[in-house]
Amino acid sequence: MNAITFRDRPNPTRTIVNGLSVDVEDWFQVGAFESVIERDDWAGLADRVDSNVKAILDLFDEVDAKATFFTLGWVAQRHGALLREIAQRGHEIASHGWDHRRVFKMDRQSFGEDIARAQKVIEDAAGVRVIGYRAPSFSIDQRTPWAYLELAERGYTYSSSVAPVEHDHYGWPDAPRFAFRPIPWTPLVEIPVTTAMFAGKRLAAGGGGFFRVLPYAFSRWAIRQVNRRDERPAVFYFHPWEIDPDQPRVTGAPLRSRLRHYTNLDQMAPKLRQLIHDFAWGRMDLLAHREAARVQAELAQDAAL
Ligand SMILES: [Zn+2]
Repeated sequence: MNAITFRDRPNPTRTIVNGLSVDVEDWFQVGAFESVIERDDWAGLADRVDSNVKAILDLFDEVDAKATFFTLGWVAQRHGALLREIAQRGHEIASHGWDHRRVFKMDRQSFGEDIARAQKVIEDAAGVRVIGYRAPSFSIDQRTPWAYLELAERGYTYSSSVAPVEHDHYGWPDAPRFAFRPIPWTPLVEIPVTTAMFAGKRLAAGGGGFFRVLPYAFSRWAIRQVNRRDERPAVFYFHPWEIDPDQPRVTGAPLRSRLRHYTNLDQMAPKLRQLIHDFAWGRMDLLAHREAARVQAELAQDAAL
């Protein structure tokens, strides 16, 4: 009798460490309100990022989950102590660009300036090196082939900036679902946000409005599918303002944007608590390191065939 019983098989939802990430921006910096709140007015608005991030750090500590905080340069410039606390509590600090301009709205030069400025200010504020980048609103797509060249030239080793799905505001539906090397001659890896497959279609399943609006069972099903069927790590993201039901209300924004932004804010913290208890989570830089090795091994295998 040498059959392996089901009980002996490793359970991928316990052994695969998924990527946990927080896009550190305040309630007035989201793309949904871009048309009603000018960047020049940001400095005068109520600052809520500090208390929200501290609540998230305490939540993560409950299960000793480590994460990556993709932070706006604009926020880093004003919150050095907060960034140092995030790093000191064992998390990674990475870049979310300077002031949430989407990549496909910039040209190559202005994008290069944006990520260089953010990187320098975040590194100075946090006292750590920045090697990871997440584009605002997942705005790297087929329109921005130069973005990865700029990231690689400036010392970034990974990006998590693609939603490989169709969506009304963003998406690169033809991109791979899992880690890939966008420029073959550099080691930079792109780690797309998680999608699940249903009836032959990709569904966005890595966080954002979907996580808040749909029942938690959807996210659990999706992440289990990725861990068990694809045997790959999932990548999940959310924002500090999503756990803050008391944030000021923006009245002039389109109804659709307001519905998306304000739905179920009060249910976010308990949902997140369940999510971080149900799966294993870790920093994106460590996940990127493992995924880069996997991509390298796949390329070597292809070359040998
Ligand atoms: Zn963002």
